[in-house]
Amino acid sequence: MKKTISSILILGTVSLFGFDYKLKPEKVNENTWCFLGKLEAPSKQNGGFMSNHCYVNTGKSYVLIDSGGTYEIAKQAYEQMQKIANLPVDTVILTHEHDDHWLGASFHKEKFNSKLVGTSAINKHYEENSKTRMFKMLTPDAIKNTKIVKIDKEIKEPTILNINGFEFQIIPVGTKAHTSDDLFVYVPQIKTLFSSDLVMNGRITSNRDGSVIGQLKAIKMIEEMDYKNLVPGHGLDTSKNAINETKQYFTLLKQRVLEAIEEDVGVENITKVIKMEEFKNKALYDELNSRNVFDAYRELEFYEEE
Ligand SMILES: [Zn+2]
Repeated sequence: MKKTISSILILGTVSLFGFDYKLKPEKVNENTWCFLGKLEAPSKQNGGFMSNHCYVNTGKSYVLIDSGGTYEIAKQAYEQMQKIANLPVDTVILTHEHDDHWLGASFHKEKFNSKLVGTSAINKHYEENSKTRMFKMLTPDAIKNTKIVKIDKEIKEPTILNINGFEFQIIPVGTKAHTSDDLFVYVPQIKTLFSSDLVMNGRITSNRDGSVIGQLKAIKMIEEMDYKNLVPGHGLDTSKNAINETKQYFTLLKQRVLEAIEEDVGVENITKVIKMEEFKNKALYDELNSRNVFDAYRELEFYEEE
């Protein structure tokens, strides 16, 4: 009983002052700053700060790649960026429909009327009162003011935005990869690639809406670009090597599942046979790996190599 009362008191204090995310921008290069989320699933404790979003300083304004998962994350991140350079947010590029990457854009829309550019899946799959995962999972003080936004410019083919002399190349994968509609962003002037969830590191990916074959295609497309920094959708490594783990994971997953199918391993045994041991110390392994193996089996069961 005592415990219940004290936890109510703690939650009460939190709501009174709002959820403090204690955000710190990480400098990736001269123009790029990122907020790198925790390597966890969204929870009441982390307030949904478990995805990456980045600011590119174009001199006159910021262009963002993704926005964080709540209005408060976006607001508190912007307050940190204001200390570095007090610029408005011109454009927010939203890479895919998972809500931890775009709900924060409700802050940029409200404060700057920023142009929201990105995947059409957001307009297609969500309405003003849709209650996505974050709305159901987070505490009221973390989710407050967060709203569903609409994409102003839907990206359906490779598109270049020229903003203050910076080229933002927005490239859709064109097939189901991490979700049904993913895009990545490349800025040649700073040789920086923003892969969003097509690449993760330090944790296991969630392939529940994705495809092993599509992921491998996306990895190939990304590797053809000439980048010095690659910022993943989740993960702290933003170097040129940031893609290695994801590439290894999907390459081995495909190879092992195809071998198991060849050896007539049934679906009921597949997660016992394929463990992806190399990744067992990565975050979210226990939560996500078996599901990825199972889904890969279902996807590859009738697969024929092209
Ligand atoms: Zn995602």
